[in-house]
Amino acid sequence: MSKPTNPSETSGMPNSLLNFIGGEFVPPARGAFLENVNPATGCVFGRLPDSDASDVNRAVEAARNAFPSWRDTPREKRAALLNAVANGIEARREEFARAETRDQGKPLSLARSMDIPRAIENFRFFAGALLHEAQEALESGASHSSALLSYTTRGPLGVAGLVTPWNLPLYLLTWKIAPALATGNTAVCKPSEFTSTTAFLLAEVMRDAGIPPGVCNVVFGRGETAGEALVVHPHVPLVSFTGGTGTGAHIAHSVASSFKKLSLELGGKNANLVFADADLDLAARTSVRSSFLNQGEICLCGSRIYVEESIFDSFLERFVAQTRKLVVGDPENEKTTLGALVSAEHRAKVESYFTLAREEGAHFVCGGKRPTLPGPFQNGFFLEPTILTGVAHSSRLQQEEIFGPIVTVTPFRHEAEALFMANDVRFGLSASVWTNDLSRAHRVAHALDVGTVWVNAWLARDLRAPFGGMKASGLGREGGRHSLEFYTETKTIALKWDKSHD
Ligand code: NAD
Repeated sequence: MSKPTNPSETSGMPNSLLNFIGGEFVPPARGAFLENVNPATGCVFGRLPDSDASDVNRAVEAARNAFPSWRDTPREKRAALLNAVANGIEARREEFARAETRDQGKPLSLARSMDIPRAIENFRFFAGALLHEAQEALESGASHSSALLSYTTRGPLGVAGLVTPWNLPLYLLTWKIAPALATGNTAVCKPSEFTSTTAFLLAEVMRDAGIPPGVCNVVFGRGETAGEALVVHPHVPLVSFTGGTGTGAHIAHSVASSFKKLSLELGGKNANLVFADADLDLAARTSVRSSFLNQGEICLCGSRIYVEESIFDSFLERFVAQTRKLVVGDPENEKTTLGALVSAEHRAKVESYFTLAREEGAHFVCGGKRPTLPGPFQNGFFLEPTILTGVAHSSRLQQEEIFGPIVTVTPFRHEAEALFMANDVRFGLSASVWTNDLSRAHRVAHALDVGTVWVNAWLARDLRAPFGGMKASGLGREGGRHSLEFYTETKTIALKWDKSHD
């Protein structure tokens, strides 16, 4: 059945997207397009290229041609161009925020306060980092007659293949583009087919900021066609991927024999541990954010809350009271705190966990259904924020990434039990620990098998800190110097020099 279209959604923002290759906007070679749907209304508002390998080949060729000159561009100039891109996004920030909301379904207030500012910051951060990099020089082998000077150089690899998901579209895409370009690589990007508009706007900004043609190319379309063609391309020596664990495993397998540099930022099933000595109001308030921000569609969302038995009821009461204050509906309304899920298919997947919870006899403390919304939003992909208790540790509800507004709350008796349950999943992305006991904070943080632990906080990021996951949550770290290292190859040059003279 074809989806309804709504021409009133077509005003003011780009609706017919084109690939950005070699500095020009071009249609896909086959002339095929995909529909772009607004998750808040279920209406089609535009289209994007359904690119295939021929478009990817063209983009990689453009990026290869641009590489020598970009690599040799002085770092001061590259930094200035990245800052110009940041300024360009800033000048159009409202347009970016509205496009992100229309594509993804997130509250406009969130796109304005988090997604778009962070994209700007990503460019500024790596423009600055580039200017403050220093390289290593080691002296050794000193004798009366000779010495050895070993120094390292770091250089770009060539064309970086950058593949990103739909949940934080511009935020995550720029987290890759900025360090890739800063270090002198050129890039071909493949944003998610569900959320392409801000990548298209970014291409306009890059062109207007003076990024040379071919340095950054954007190819739109599906993962199994355009994405796959990009990651396996023989002239793409580096792939940075953020997305689902299944897709990451597939990509790792596809590129294994070609020895590409690979960074995988994958799924999470993050635990939130609340101890009896914690500030319960703060823990409850922040847990509402960590459970439901962006409709629970953030890889770092704390979807399993473990609460010390003695405070279980008082925490739950606070947590539920705060959750009931959330407002689900029109993402453009200032009061809305939960927008729509990204697609009908994704909502159906999340709803299948409601069914599972009912089958398993879990208790729905709140939520568990679609909200009733007025007018155009009745066809949007909304769900109520849902809190479950009474879920077994082995249940798929506690083990699988749901990526929606569902959280389980489970009591624990002591620290060891909390740690066991937190670690006993295949994922290892992040965790939050709520306690005022300093030793416990360190002890528990050290024992958690995850890439990032927050203590009495959630989603607080210093962009210099390494970011990434353990276990099925990924491979490698990005952020600060870790990104600069990932996007470059290190070479050691060892030079022996003679101390004696004629
Ligand atoms: P996804 O894996 O379905 O898609 C991600 C991207 O990969 C999309 O652009 C898609 O088109 C592309 N793709 C799909 N198949 C491909 C293939 N065979 N080859 C190359 N590219 C392919 O993920 P999604 O549904 O868009 O995003 C949600 C997932 O992303 C969740 O699991 C979430 O946890 C994860 N995520 C992780 C992080 C992190 O930093 N660890 C951040 C955000 C999202």
